[in-house]
Amino acid sequence: MQRFFAFVITLLLALVVVPAHGANSIENIRMWPSPDNTRIVFDMANAAEYSYFTLNQSHPYRLVIDFPSTELKVNLDYLESNSLLVKNIRTSTPKLPGSTRIVVELDKQVDPILQVLTPQDMYGHRLVVDLPGTSLKREGHALSADDLQERKVTVAIDAGHGGEDPGSIGPRGTYEKDVVLTISRALANMINEDPGMQAYLIRSDDYYVNLNDRPRKAERVKADLFVSIHADAFTTPQPRGASIWVLSNRRASTEMGRLLENKERLSDVLGGVPAVEMEDSFLNETLVSMSMDHAMASGYEAANEVLAELGRITKMHKTKPQHASLAVLTSTAMPSMLVETGFISNPTEEQLLRSNQHQQKLARAIYQGVRSYFLRRPPDGTIFANNRSSRHVVRSGESLSVLAQRYNTSIAAIKARNNLNSSVIQIGQVLEIPSPE
Ligand SMILES: [Zn+2]
Repeated sequence: MQRFFAFVITLLLALVVVPAHGANSIENIRMWPSPDNTRIVFDMANAAEYSYFTLNQSHPYRLVIDFPSTELKVNLDYLESNSLLVKNIRTSTPKLPGSTRIVVELDKQVDPILQVLTPQDMYGHRLVVDLPGTSLKREGHALSADDLQERKVTVAIDAGHGGEDPGSIGPRGTYEKDVVLTISRALANMINEDPGMQAYLIRSDDYYVNLNDRPRKAERVKADLFVSIHADAFTTPQPRGASIWVLSNRRASTEMGRLLENKERLSDVLGGVPAVEMEDSFLNETLVSMSMDHAMASGYEAANEVLAELGRITKMHKTKPQHASLAVLTSTAMPSMLVETGFISNPTEEQLLRSNQHQQKLARAIYQGVRSYFLRRPPDGTIFANNRSSRHVVRSGESLSVLAQRYNTSIAAIKARNNLNSSVIQIGQVLEIPSPE
């Protein structure tokens, strides 16, 4: 038995010490920037094994790719980046000897897509890395005014229900459609006062808009975010609190989610949409696409920002984004969320939802959450994108000294820029960060 273990250990040592036989090598690296993507291709001697992670805490953002038991046969000094996105490609100390760690320095945060390709025609084994993001100036046409100017981000605000469809009705007879329209208008005003944002109301008065038309309207104005505003209801008066729903490509698994899905279908029935126009096919067609994945992931992220703000001013029913398949959330062009501002079926919350003060607070919280999201993920070419290095939203655990170190500046400089009398900063606070000294 002992001999057997000795044999196993010897074998393991052999595997560790003599990887040369199965070792791989990076033979060449090529980079292909396009208007909306940079592709980096690693030519490998054998099928690529790799792992990767991203570092998005500070500029330059980094994509780190580890190739185990792989030798780099390329001199990176001669590799020049002509991509607006990729600033530099360098090596770093790998975790294991005999391995290669490649660091791609990026101007923007990206969600990389990596895939291994088997030999084809003129190419051998390859690892292909796609980095979505503007990487090349568009050519072939003169820049339009839109291209030259910083644009505002557009937030589509969808006040639920309307017209023939009252939405949920509170015990005192409060209509959901009225409450959510007031909150939506207040939110639109706050957004329009922000120099970096503009609002687009999907419905601006008491009329019904087909569920499938709501995201389409937002797409037509090229909205960067879709926020549907609702108030919840349940069959018993007890449940209360706000929650946020994001799209799932499966039917909801919770009772509350199924209830919401059924209510949404009822919405079109009440709203007066002809049955032929009510389609349920969106699930199969759109949800498999890559852009849908991206829209869903971004929607979840944006929902988290708004949840954090709502949690400060109202009771929460759910502290995490909830999933359901809702027609209004199915745009692939932008992240979407549905905010349930509270339970209109709960007598206490019905009272709150009727009060102007609480409506303003809800609108303010949604506005702050949306703003935090765009500060963190500014779409290309927007005012937020061009200001990003100088703005920071304080997160849990951060102090002025942490931020000064991260942004290569001083505590005094941040305090001076923001007129701060003390060094106490609060989560969610937006700080101007001065340029490095
Ligand atoms: Zn509703």
